[in-house]
Amino acid sequence: MKKRILLLAGGQSGEHEVSLSSARSVLNALPRDQFDVTPVAISKQGRWLPPTETRQALESGAAVSGGDLVLHRVASAEGYDAVFPLLHGPMGEDGTIQGLLTLAGIPFVGSGVLGSAVSMDKVMTKQVLASAGIPQVEWRLAVRREWHGDPESVRARAAELGYPLFVKPANLGSSVGISKVRGPEELDAALTLAFGLDRRVILEAMTAHKPRELEVGVLGNDAPIASPVGELRFASEFYDYETKYTEGRAEVHIPAPIPTEVAERVREGALQAFRALDCAGLARVDFFYVEETGELLLNEVNTMPGFTQTSMYPKLFEASGLGYSELVTRLVELALDER
Ligand code: ADP
Ligand code: MG
Ligand code: MG
Repeated sequence: MKKRILLLAGGQSGEHEVSLSSARSVLNALPRDQFDVTPVAISKQGRWLPPTETRQALESGAAVSGGDLVLHRVASAEGYDAVFPLLHGPMGEDGTIQGLLTLAGIPFVGSGVLGSAVSMDKVMTKQVLASAGIPQVEWRLAVRREWHGDPESVRARAAELGYPLFVKPANLGSSVGISKVRGPEELDAALTLAFGLDRRVILEAMTAHKPRELEVGVLGNDAPIASPVGELRFASEFYDYETKYTEGRAEVHIPAPIPTEVAERVREGALQAFRALDCAGLARVDFFYVEETGELLLNEVNTMPGFTQTSMYPKLFEASGLGYSELVTRLVELALDER
């Protein structure tokens, strides 16, 4: 019997369009003889679109409005064997959809409520990984109320880290709302931007040298495996939104030209982080590598990484011999497996 799969895409985050293009690739790649796939696009307002509008959204690359309240759609989602929530960022990758699917009793691809929620929040991730002994940059948390009530205390935290530093909304992706702050005169603008997008903001120190950026894929549930390591290279000052989504701005090197010993540390660290965060199914784990000192710092864990045919995560597994189609099939199998 064919498995019935519900593929969710779009959603309310800034990564709506990225998600729809990932979904197009996955839809084409799930073998028709094994799976009966129904795509449902979620609009930018969070409404679930009926089939015709979903098809239009997949073609045009955006679903701006229309659709049903989520609860109506979940009721009609009964009868699916599994859901592939191919959603990035808040209201999709952060445990909210995962909670809804858990309540509905439908198995789904990827991490559960806990792993999704903790991995989405850059501060919670850092706290959990610190307790697992995984090296990371120095950081400080600030909440919006402090920024409004006592901005000096927030500025003092930045001064402790020194400049340049990074200011980021705690719960976003795709570099949205992230600033590299070169000195105190740039700090307030960066904090205002980040607090406009999130209640919680993380301030992060930078390493002394511009780090190299390494990424590795993890696949599995309680016995996960790591892919070869990849490297991103780009000319811009950091891997910002434009660099991520403008064709030709970044180069991907797989395998990363690094010593075997460093690649092993990346893979080991990624698996350790995956377990510590209680991730499942898949994750892309990103590191900073400071060549001058040999230092390897874990930057973040993405529980639903970009998933087009040319995205880093599928490319990493392709390099180890697992093609795109086999990879998405494996992910659905993992969703149906006992953990
Ligand atoms: P997102 O979840 O939006 O991808 P990241 O934390 O990965 O956010 O930051 C985006 C990019 O900003 C990174 O890929 C890197 O280029 C740069 N960056 C972020 N934090 C630091 C840091 N502490 N030191 C150096 N570069 C950083
Ligand atoms: Mg991220
Ligand atoms: Mg990132």
